[in-house]
Amino acid sequence: MKNVFQRIIDEELPCDKVFENERIIAFKDIAPAAPVHILIVPKKHFPNISAIGPEDGELILEVVMVANELAKKFKITDGYRLLTNNGEKAGQTVFHLHFHLLGGTHLGPIA
Ligand code: AMP
Repeated sequence: MKNVFQRIIDEELPCDKVFENERIIAFKDIAPAAPVHILIVPKKHFPNISAIGPEDGELILEVVMVANELAKKFKITDGYRLLTNNGEKAGQTVFHLHFHLLGGTHLGPIA
């Protein structure tokens, strides 16, 4: 069965989209943990960051560039966090690689 992010990518489920190109989609998290909480999702399927190899370097750089642009757009350049949970023990619940962009407040400790 398709994961929820694959269904969003395939336009089977709605999302509050803030960015899209051929390789990446970004949308607001449905349960925000900060005033700005955006998910940046490569369209190509990887279960998580541990599946990334050297051939994916350009894609990961593009994720960072999109995050930096969205940080400007959502006016959080004074402090933001870009993170990915890798595996259930790290809190990963959707097994399609995604990066959380968080900001808009003082962020607490990471763990
Ligand atoms: P993680 O726990 O790192 O796998 O992150 C999954 C994130 O996806 C959580 O922060 C959820 O709130 C978020 N999420 C789950 N379903 C949706 C959805 N349909 N639209 C937007 N965000 C979602």
